[in-house]
Amino acid sequence: MSKRDFYDVLGVSKGASADEIKKAYRSKAKELHPDRNSDNPKAESQFKEANEAYEILKDANKKAAYDRYGHAAFEGGGGGPRPGHGFGGGDFSSAFSDVFDDLFGDFMGGQRGGGRRAARGSDLRYNLRVTMEDAYSGLQKSIHVPTAVACSACDGNGAEGGAEPTTCPTCSGMGKVRAQQGFFTVERTCPTCSGLGQIIKNPCKTCGGQGRVEKDRALNVNIPAGVETGTRIRLAGEGEAGMRGGPPGDLYIFVEVQAHDLFERDGTNLYCRVPVSMAKAALGGAIEVPTIDGGRGRVQIPAGSQSGRQMRLRGKGMPALRGGGIGDMFIELAVETPVNLTSRQKELLREFEDLSEDNNPESKTFFSSVKSFWDGMKG
Ligand SMILES: [Zn+2]
Ligand SMILES: [Zn+2]
Repeated sequence: MSKRDFYDVLGVSKGASADEIKKAYRSKAKELHPDRNSDNPKAESQFKEANEAYEILKDANKKAAYDRYGHAAFEGGGGGPRPGHGFGGGDFSSAFSDVFDDLFGDFMGGQRGGGRRAARGSDLRYNLRVTMEDAYSGLQKSIHVPTAVACSACDGNGAEGGAEPTTCPTCSGMGKVRAQQGFFTVERTCPTCSGLGQIIKNPCKTCGGQGRVEKDRALNVNIPAGVETGTRIRLAGEGEAGMRGGPPGDLYIFVEVQAHDLFERDGTNLYCRVPVSMAKAALGGAIEVPTIDGGRGRVQIPAGSQSGRQMRLRGKGMPALRGGGIGDMFIELAVETPVNLTSRQKELLREFEDLSEDNNPESKTFFSSVKSFWDGMKG
């Protein structure tokens, strides 16, 4: 499937400024948001498409790469996301923080009169690559996430020496101020307290009044059996700490399962292409095949098997995520024509060919169809 040009998706020209791109994205996102388009099945994919386009175009580096190489800049070649890349607010929270907080603020009229509105911490994204074997068995993984944690010097409230923060005089603790803009009265985040409703006279020296500090956090995560590329695991509350005691964000682990040398996966089924010699395919016999659990399976090849013949090993596929059984493994035979023949082998094969009569029914059928085709052309 060919991908649409990102500029077309957002409806802007190539020369559009960062502001114009953001504006175009916001109006697309409003228009296409799934919550408002329950009767339009196409909206969701268009919404995703707009998100994807904006992810790239809002980032100067990615935009430059896209302008030079097009979609190829972000596809294939083992490039792709890697652990350690794309952490933090910058990348992932873009659509959901810098635009959607605004959006929902617009829709819902913000948190009116909420008073102590402590800002929630950002969600974090962690890209994790796992092997097919790990995806089969599930694994316990220790990861390091650069994040923000509550400041221990001030207990997260941002004030030096345990002093209580005081109510912001500009907004009287509302966190918002009203301003006239054209015909409308709009509410803005209070510039004095940044919407928190409180100010701190003596900010904590350790965290500068933020109530949180940067830290590399080690986490043990449990990757369940059956994950696939694109599986997203949410660890609630494991994202960045909020500002001045606000609730923490969530951590999302995005899984990428690496390709395997022997097995190809389709959902819960596995496919393994197994070469067999011409003689074995003709005579039949047993072969041993690998299974994803590290074991061996024995498969009986019927005499006269052709290339492409599939045989099923039940229950030797991948487990479904969160229960729901296990898939099958399919062996696909690939009959290998022998090469590097000795003169003795050639002699035997010629003798065999001379003795062959009804041994190749498919060839026979084919050539008789060919003959009637040519005969038909004449008539
Ligand atoms: Zn204020
Ligand atoms: Zn502090």
